[in-house]
Amino acid sequence: MRKLGQRSNNFAKSSCGAFGVSDQWAYGASKYLNCNLMSFPFTYLGIPISVNPRRCQTWEPIITKCERKLARWRQRHLSFGGRVTLINSVLTSILIYFFSFFRVPKQVVDKLVRLQRNFLWGGTPEQNKIAWIRWDTVCKPKEEGGLGVKDITAFNTSLLGKWKWDLFQNKEETWARVLQSKYGSWRNPKGAPRAWRLLKDRLPTRDNLRRKRVELHEYVSPLCKSTDESASHLFFHCSKILPIWWESLSWVKLVGAFPHHPRHHFLQHSHGVYEGLQGNKWKWWWLALTWTIWKHRNSIIFSNATFNAHKVMDDAVFLIWTWLRHLKKDFTYHYNQWSSNLKEGFLRT
Ligand SMILES: [Zn+2]
Repeated sequence: MRKLGQRSNNFAKSSCGAFGVSDQWAYGASKYLNCNLMSFPFTYLGIPISVNPRRCQTWEPIITKCERKLARWRQRHLSFGGRVTLINSVLTSILIYFFSFFRVPKQVVDKLVRLQRNFLWGGTPEQNKIAWIRWDTVCKPKEEGGLGVKDITAFNTSLLGKWKWDLFQNKEETWARVLQSKYGSWRNPKGAPRAWRLLKDRLPTRDNLRRKRVELHEYVSPLCKSTDESASHLFFHCSKILPIWWESLSWVKLVGAFPHHPRHHFLQHSHGVYEGLQGNKWKWWWLALTWTIWKHRNSIIFSNATFNAHKVMDDAVFLIWTWLRHLKKDFTYHYNQWSSNLKEGFLRT
């Protein structure tokens, strides 16, 4: 546990949560990461998770979230096929995590099915046509004459099966799940959740919100509080952020002036690769750092956190380490090794 060495205080103020594992295991994990184990209920994806998954109450916020998401679409004129696709994707995105851990109680399944029905048929001309088709037929794939609506129970069962298999096969997976609760999507850094939105400058930065006529009481960067917040400012040019980029460039002996548009910044970053520098790792660094900046910026705005450049750097260094551990079989650095030899880490395989 002490092996994290000098960086062991990084996570002292962080929290991690785990569910679907024993208390003892979760405790061990939190000790290892040197973070506080969150006590239930904690929130995941903004949804409060409480103690007992067998209680229907636990599922209420999740059902509400599905309901709200779908309600936003109800007013729009969608084709029937469009509604099937939409309801499947909404349910998948919200439920996949919880369904991976818990067997859903019967009453909850019933509520979700009612949601599906209402959304699909609610006040539309198709209602009469379809209402008399049996629900299990509705859930069959199209090739089998169904409508391809996701079968809640089958979805749950298949995910539970997969998860148990993972537990047996691969302990790393279990680790990753714990990390995920803190760091969001680690699974696929190329698809890092907001990367494409950043590259297209479509994140809800304050200037973008103003452009969309969203009223805020201030538009300045929450980091430096002196210049208006745009993606270019927030991620690259803010006086609080610039030194972090300079430091990371110095690891690999690169210098450069920074372009303004995020996409150009990324291109310059990836084209700066020279022989000996690990191109992919270096791109992932860009993703890890920008993603971390965004997370910190949000916790400043929404949770009154204060800006701390060291913490941003530490979190980003940790995040890319979790990605590399997962993605590269030959990446065997212990975290301590990685974080204290970043130069070498980006230059060598
Ligand atoms: Zn600033």
